[in-house]
Amino acid sequence: MNKIFKFEGLLTNEGWMCPAFVEVDNKGIISNISTEKLEGDIETVSGFAIPGFQNAHSHSFQYAMSGLAEIHPDPTSQDDFWSWRETMYNIALSMNPDQFEHIAAMLYAEMLSHGYTHVAEFHYVHHDPNGKPYTNLAEMGQRLVSAAKTAGIGITLVPIFYQKGGFGQNPVEKQRRFISATAMDYLELLDSSEKATQSYAKANIGLGIHSLRAVDESSMRAAFAEAKDLPIHMHIAEQLKEVSDCLDFYKQRPVEWLLDNYDVNGNFHLVHATHLVDSEVMGIAQSGAHVVLCPSTEGNLGDGIFPLQSFQQKGGKWSIGTDSHIGLNPLEELRILDYGQRLTTHRRNQFISDTNGDTGAFGIDMVIKSGRKAMGNKSENYFTIGQPFDAVILDASSPLIGTSRPEHILSTLVYSGDRTNFNGTVVDGDWKVKDGQHHLKDEIVSNFKKSLGELKIR
Ligand code: ZN
Repeated sequence: MNKIFKFEGLLTNEGWMCPAFVEVDNKGIISNISTEKLEGDIETVSGFAIPGFQNAHSHSFQYAMSGLAEIHPDPTSQDDFWSWRETMYNIALSMNPDQFEHIAAMLYAEMLSHGYTHVAEFHYVHHDPNGKPYTNLAEMGQRLVSAAKTAGIGITLVPIFYQKGGFGQNPVEKQRRFISATAMDYLELLDSSEKATQSYAKANIGLGIHSLRAVDESSMRAAFAEAKDLPIHMHIAEQLKEVSDCLDFYKQRPVEWLLDNYDVNGNFHLVHATHLVDSEVMGIAQSGAHVVLCPSTEGNLGDGIFPLQSFQQKGGKWSIGTDSHIGLNPLEELRILDYGQRLTTHRRNQFISDTNGDTGAFGIDMVIKSGRKAMGNKSENYFTIGQPFDAVILDASSPLIGTSRPEHILSTLVYSGDRTNFNGTVVDGDWKVKDGQHHLKDEIVSNFKKSLGELKIR
């Protein structure tokens, strides 16, 4: 049976529609949107609906170690990305498929409560703890799809091609769960992973390369040749050491080398791209590739600051991801990104705005449209008849949002909001989270606690 929501407002590409009636069919597909009352059972919601956020970069298992790499007993030691990575490897080696799934389900439920309705899972823990492939090559990917289905979030499973331990180097022992030795091995994994996504209507597949240091040139070329129209995700230029290693090996900087050697286009989603020179900034923008920025993780790891202003001036497009999940609030990702730029340039207007000078609206628009492309979803319409109704509902009784004129709502949200300003999150026309509670919270939390207890890592 169809159902009808009445919201105080619905964010459309042309601005707020107030009030808004949204009718969805029994599969959660939007069948009508109107400012006029629609006939049927109406659920009146004291809130404003905006499209669900898109989390374009996730390593779900790393959620289990959030906050654990912050104790530094020796103040003179150098703790950086590479020492953090050692801790992360030990955790990746310890998890069985059930634990992996329970942690992901908990994380995805939390993502929903923060307003994300779709996640791109940059997934590289493929094999058993001894490094032996599971009977189902995509066993661990299947677990991620199951976790997403349990939580009710959309997922783009991006199985990652991980072959080397560094430029021209064999993998190390601790990377044994990640490795596809050849492009053929990877393409078999990709095929199995695609089959895994068929068990859930809100799952699809992407293609992923861990980084230039992790896959050799010809194997990468063979993988790209099979990409067809899939979104392609890869880490790039996150670390200064990675840039210098690339200069040693390829005699070029990572982004420079990628742009010179492959047909980089709008299907590419370059994760981090922190360390760029001007010609690389221009090259990414001109290629149409997107950058996936993960400000809370990049800050936590001390990666560096992305040259946002210059990238935007050249028409560059970007999305956000929560990566290691040290932070899960999409509004905080936008703020950290913006404030890093403000603090280093002494200017407040960092997000270049074609939305009437409204930086909040600009940030939301950018992360929704580019985020969807990272998922292989090319729809630029916020809400479309015939598409699933996936939305975050902003609480009209929240003091600042409830007293704002419509044109101030998005900036109020971006610069002062968090999940306490949401009534909840709707996916396929159903409340997955309402009043801060995920509808399967008890089961998901209980499984999560059991797995964390077994792992003894916290
Ligand atoms: Zn990452």
